[in-house]
Amino acid sequence: MRKQFVQLTNAEKLRLLKKHALGTVWKSLKDKNWCLHCQKQFSGHSVRVYQDDGPGLWLECGPLGCDGSPVDWADHPWWDENHPLTQAHDKAVAEAEEEERGKM
Ligand SMILES: [Zn+2]
Repeated sequence: MRKQFVQLTNAEKLRLLKKHALGTVWKSLKDKNWCLHCQKQFSGHSVRVYQDDGPGLWLECGPLGCDGSPVDWADHPWWDENHPLTQAHDKAVAEAEEEERGKM
């Protein structure tokens, strides 16, 4: 498979990130998200864009050597339950559920 990296303008890249985002939110390229693949935090700026034999553009995780793609990304490192971001996330979810129960 041919894999050729392409250079996009910031606006185009952000649009692509938003389009392919699954568990992640990208308001700007400065936003940071986490990759399950390399377990690192990376910014939208560091994401690589490439093209293969087809017409589509593909996204690849920022840290060198990682070929993580949008399905591997999340807004917090959920695989590490002791990470402060994960604990904050779990707490927010638990509180939202609590509130939901209170309404019933
Ligand atoms: Zn990665």
